[in-house]
Amino acid sequence: MAAKKNKKIVQSEKCIGCGVCVSVCPINTKLEKKEDFEPEKAELAIRVVNGKAVIEEEFCIRCGACARICPVESLSVVELESKAEATAA
Ligand code: SF4
Ligand code: SF4
Repeated sequence: MAAKKNKKIVQSEKCIGCGVCVSVCPINTKLEKKEDFEPEKAELAIRVVNGKAVIEEEFCIRCGACARICPVESLSVVELESKAEATAA
């Protein structure tokens, strides 16, 4: 299993702020099930701020669910240690 730090979710300018990524994020859904869930205070891995999705690096586990669901392909999973291999393909 790849370590969390070897990947990064990158946001682009394409985001339309639809919030689909926020609702599928497993970190978010877990928090939302808690009885004392407060959107403002919860340690969400991704949230929409000023019309754009913003990843919280600290809480994101780099699962890629948000990137797969995004309708405008605004989010991408970047493998930080395989840059050289990636260019070969
Ligand atoms: S990659 Fe991060 S922000 Fe995206 S769904 Fe997974 S945990 Fe949430
Ligand atoms: S990143 Fe994609 S899924 Fe998330 S709010 Fe932006 S457009 Fe919607």
